[in-house]
Amino acid sequence: MKLNENFLKLPGSYLFAEIDRRVSAYAAAHPDKKLIRLGIGDVTRPLAPAVVEAMHRAVDEMGKEETFRGYPPYRGYDFLVNAIAEQDYRARGVELTAEEIFVSDGAKSDCGNIGDIFGTDNVVAVCDPVYPVYVDTNAMAGRAGEYDPKTEQWGRLVYMPCVKENDFIPKVPKEKVDLIYLCFPNNPTGAAATREQLKAWVDYANANDAVILYDSAYEAFITQPEIPHTIYEIEGAKRCAIEFRSFSKTAGFTGVRCAYTVIPKELVRNGVSLNEMWYRRQSTKFNGVSYVVQRGAAAIYTPEGRRQVEETIAFYRSNAQVILSGLSRAGLEVCGGVNSPYVWARTPDGMGSWDFFDRLLTEANVVTTPGAGFGPSGEGYIRVTSFGGADATREAVERIVALLKR
Ligand code: PLP
Repeated sequence: MKLNENFLKLPGSYLFAEIDRRVSAYAAAHPDKKLIRLGIGDVTRPLAPAVVEAMHRAVDEMGKEETFRGYPPYRGYDFLVNAIAEQDYRARGVELTAEEIFVSDGAKSDCGNIGDIFGTDNVVAVCDPVYPVYVDTNAMAGRAGEYDPKTEQWGRLVYMPCVKENDFIPKVPKEKVDLIYLCFPNNPTGAAATREQLKAWVDYANANDAVILYDSAYEAFITQPEIPHTIYEIEGAKRCAIEFRSFSKTAGFTGVRCAYTVIPKELVRNGVSLNEMWYRRQSTKFNGVSYVVQRGAAAIYTPEGRRQVEETIAFYRSNAQVILSGLSRAGLEVCGGVNSPYVWARTPDGMGSWDFFDRLLTEANVVTTPGAGFGPSGEGYIRVTSFGGADATREAVERIVALLKR
């Protein structure tokens, strides 16, 4: 019996566990303090009424013999897949067939599981800072090499720093890489890539036989017209990119669980269709998303559901504005927050991000996320999320402004 020893190489405490530890210790020692949490990226607004009604109806159907449903189709029900193809893609000039869309229980699982169809000796490029799932799942699969606690990097991963100097958008690497994780609008920096910036990546991938794994979980937060909503708006992307989308942040589905992944039929490597490989993988290891949940997701595509979901996103967007303007008033350098629910703020006076996190926690009683937790290039930043309540967000920002004035 042998364990997958790659798991043993993973560094200990996960970012949010360490934040929890510090916050719990502080809260236990100061029970009188009212903490405001703008740290973890979970949503707080309830589901749209149209979603709730659709799920109620679906539950009733499941309780009657004539309308009961068993296992769902591996790729998702037609009513949802067709709505996705029509409204998320055709409406933006991108033609997809139903077979190119795979409904799933989350973008996290899809981003993690997609590695199943790729060999372990591929060279993987990730942004730095990065959504930790891309790194850790490659480490678990043995694709990352050895972890160096000094640099906090894995030996076989190619890290692409996303820093102020490149507007937080990575440049294509000089070396040949095989798998490229891109996430726009970005978690944690809030940066969004333009058409030209994505075109450079698509051209690189097509020229180098590489595959782009494009995580677009925050697509719904895009406001600027020049920002593409899907990588398939870029010529050539269907030949090199897999796109991950999620209803989590779009429609408050973090607790409901529904997402989808697009693998175009044109995406072929070594004569093999990646779409067919993924279908083989999903139909073997995954039994689909429940009917009730898919009915709920489909309700987002009705005129009423769309309007309700947009209202919620506007609510978060207005929080992001409050954070952006407040923190810049406090003298912090800020970015993100325009096409993203995340604001990325530089710490004052070159302070370390955990030190600034601690200062905000203990002196302003506001919980943020230290940028260093997302990778070495996140050092010197904190991430502030707009997923809180409106009053709490305003108060948190006022507290930070007052603290930094002192
Ligand atoms: N991708 C990114 C970049 C995220 O930040 C998150 C959640 O925070 C996810 C994926 C997870 O999405 P889901 O809830 O669909 O698993």
